[in-house]
Amino acid sequence: MAELPEGSVVFGVFNETSDTESRVALTPDIVTRLKKSGVTCLIETRAGEMAGYTDADYAGAGAEIAEPARIVAEADALGFVDRPSPALVEQLKPGTWIIGMLGSFTDADYVASLERRGLVAVAIERLPRQLSSAQSMDEMTSQNSVMGYKAALVAANAYGSFLPMMTTAAGTIRPAKVLILGAGIAGLQAIGTARRLGGVVTAYDVRPASRGEVESLGAKFLDLGLDFSAGQGEGGYARALTPEEQAAQQAAVDEKAAGFDIVITTAKVPGRKPPVLLTRAGVDGLHRGAVVVDCAASDLGGNVEGSIVGEQVTDGGVKLIGAPYLASEVPTTASNLLARNVADILVHFVHDGRLAADMDQELDRAMVVAGAPAGQPSAETGK
Ligand code: NAD
Repeated sequence: MAELPEGSVVFGVFNETSDTESRVALTPDIVTRLKKSGVTCLIETRAGEMAGYTDADYAGAGAEIAEPARIVAEADALGFVDRPSPALVEQLKPGTWIIGMLGSFTDADYVASLERRGLVAVAIERLPRQLSSAQSMDEMTSQNSVMGYKAALVAANAYGSFLPMMTTAAGTIRPAKVLILGAGIAGLQAIGTARRLGGVVTAYDVRPASRGEVESLGAKFLDLGLDFSAGQGEGGYARALTPEEQAAQQAAVDEKAAGFDIVITTAKVPGRKPPVLLTRAGVDGLHRGAVVVDCAASDLGGNVEGSIVGEQVTDGGVKLIGAPYLASEVPTTASNLLARNVADILVHFVHDGRLAADMDQELDRAMVVAGAPAGQPSAETGK
């Protein structure tokens, strides 16, 4: 076993391969990049396999391939696609930094368990995305954009007809009509991909600013005749609608969706249960053979009433696909982007060969959810 260089921060990554996860939080090119910032990498055997990277690729880039026990013992910081399991949390040594999607908006008990264990927890979901210095760390943007692209491909694959218009000797095939609900990062990628496949695309978002973005991609904006601009959420994000607004929106979406062949939903509100946009009645109003892909599907429900993670066919013959894991289905690109995001977050906290959070900085204050007490002007933690 080689000695790790003196005075460097040791960054560890585990193999997170599960039934639904093919991504990895470190890629070989990022190993090389991190070395220049004084960070040495330890990576578990076969961690990059599903994303297309072998142990030899990592070793060639300068990482050490290690067993989990060594990573636990030697890493100063750990990077995750998701977050460490409760069992792993209990094994980690106090003072270890963890960087991941920690679910801190919805799972206070989990964050409390990290605090109890003495870990320094950096929650990627809390990245202040509006800061220009945070752009390269924005995993929500990078992964949502992969997800939106794949959502259009999954929908096209599940649909029993062509997407493009085609004139053949046997007659003309009309193009598929595609409706995208939620035109943020994922929705805009879904629009672009569905259009490139030849679909005729219409999109809707609750944010008034999205109309111009939708139209600039050559799609039509769906006008529901409702105005939710009052009380727009912080930083240009959608706010949660009131129950009355939501009911009005659902009725309007249900009615308008009836003419579409494919519906892709990507609407979320940060840190909350996704809003239901298409109700059961809306799904029943779609024709036999129509396809719905709900990217917001989760255990708490998604944008489509009755959607579950996985695939089902309704009594009316509509294919309903609950697909929150689509970024993982483009594992190489998704990992390349995600690894860059995680590495840039890590490097942000490396100062003179040490890990430290400066609670006077907006980014640090927002993201460090455990291990650096609030109200303390400058917290230095780790080694
Ligand atoms: P997201 O994944 O949280 O939401 C997806 C989309 O769903 C959003 O466009 C949102 O407006 C929409 N939505 C929420 N509730 C809805 C409802 N009831 N009906 C219809 N649509 C609804 O967000 P995201 O896609 O990651 O980002 C959203 C927007 O934030 C982006 O389009 C971008 O303009 C902005 N953004 C800004 C920065 C920055 O300032 N640097 C960074 C990232 C994103």
